Amino acid sequence: MLKIENLHAEIDGKPILNGLSLSVRAGQVHAIMGPNGAGKSTLGYVLGGRPGYEVTGGSVTFEGSNNEQLDLLDMAPDERAAAGLFLGFQYPVEIPGVSNVQFLRTALNAQRRARGEAEMSAGDFLRAARAQGEALDVSMDMMKRNVNVGFSGGEKKRNEMVQMGLLGPRLAVLDETDSGLDIDALRIVGAGINRIMRAPDKAVVLITHYQRLLDIVQPDFVHVLAEGRIVRSGGPELAHELEREGYAQVAA
Ligand code: ADP
Ligand code: MG
Repeated sequence: MLKIENLHAEIDGKPILNGLSLSVRAGQVHAIMGPNGAGKSTLGYVLGGRPGYEVTGGSVTFEGSNNEQLDLLDMAPDERAAAGLFLGFQYPVEIPGVSNVQFLRTALNAQRRARGEAEMSAGDFLRAARAQGEALDVSMDMMKRNVNVGFSGGEKKRNEMVQMGLLGPRLAVLDETDSGLDIDALRIVGAGINRIMRAPDKAVVLITHYQRLLDIVQPDFVHVLAEGRIVRSGGPELAHELEREGYAQVAA
């Protein structure tokens, strides 16, 4: 579904990704772990097409919603989203003046239009939003508030999962979705990822530092990202090894 080959990227002329390769197939969950500053968030931003992140080499192929092989780096951010790519950010943005429901409905319908599908009616949308909210413990009250404004860390992450549930992406790249969550919120978010994304035609790249999320969303593969590339890959046992020994040992 996603094939990253020898990806190089820089910010302000400073190389951050240095020949990163990663292959993700439908039905799989890949965890990416690695020290601070390794380039994990940069990978997410580059996949999402964030301005300021310049790709200087390599390729990214994405199998979109209609099974077409797409040159992801050649697409605008909104085209990537419409093709089925979802990014969950380490620091979700606040959007004062825009209500959550308004934002979600606009995003969902923009994607549907881009795919040539009919827009969702207000009634259908509200039903879908309510169902996702219930599953993720996000009240209709929170849905009506301005996007993420005044939300706690845990509320922002649960709200992000509501977005993911409504958009129904093919591939989710989730950047430290577990950071700042208490134990109950972690369970809710983890169960949400499994419910929304564990399917034969979907895949997840889960950036995390902690085993506790991987106990819930069990990865098929674990990778260590250090100095801008994948330096080790293994199965779920690699995450346990990292927790025991630290990155310095394992990535050496
Ligand atoms: P990680 O998510 O693995 O902790 P990041 O991808 O956030 O790492 O950062 C990788 C490196 O890129 C770090 O050295 C960081 O300081 C640098 N970096 C990130 N964003 C910028 C920026 N906007 N300008 C300059 N350097 C940046
Ligand atoms: Mg990061």
